[in-house]
Amino acid sequence: MSADPDCLFCKIVAGEIPAEVVSETETTVAFRDVNPQAPTHVLVVPKQHLVDAAQVAAADAGLLATLVAEAASVAASDGYRLVFNTGAEGGQVVFHAHLHVLSGRQMTWPPG
Ligand code: AMP
Repeated sequence: MSADPDCLFCKIVAGEIPAEVVSETETTVAFRDVNPQAPTHVLVVPKQHLVDAAQVAAADAGLLATLVAEAASVAASDGYRLVFNTGAEGGQVVFHAHLHVLSGRQMTWPPG
């Protein structure tokens, strides 16, 4: 499985940087965001180093489905928001695909 030695989330996947892991599958890890924007804020990432959601979909559509299924299972309520920030203009800061799961409060729109 490919990993980038300079990637923060690859290091979390490898256990080299600590994170509060809430769920894990053969292909994904879910851990709490260090700077939560909602009472529950979890990031679901592929173990494989893929840069964004489109790259995940192109590499393995089933992996994208697993990310979404895991997101649904870690959301603490029936209502939740899933976000893939994509590219610098899309607000992406860590270039290892991650699905934000935000829940536990009323979401507002537009998100800004
Ligand atoms: P994005 O802006 O979509 O790239 O989101 C990156 C997210 O990673 C932000 O919400 C950060 O708070 C979060 N983050 C950065 N470093 C860590 C870390 N070491 N453990 C958990 N979450 C992190």
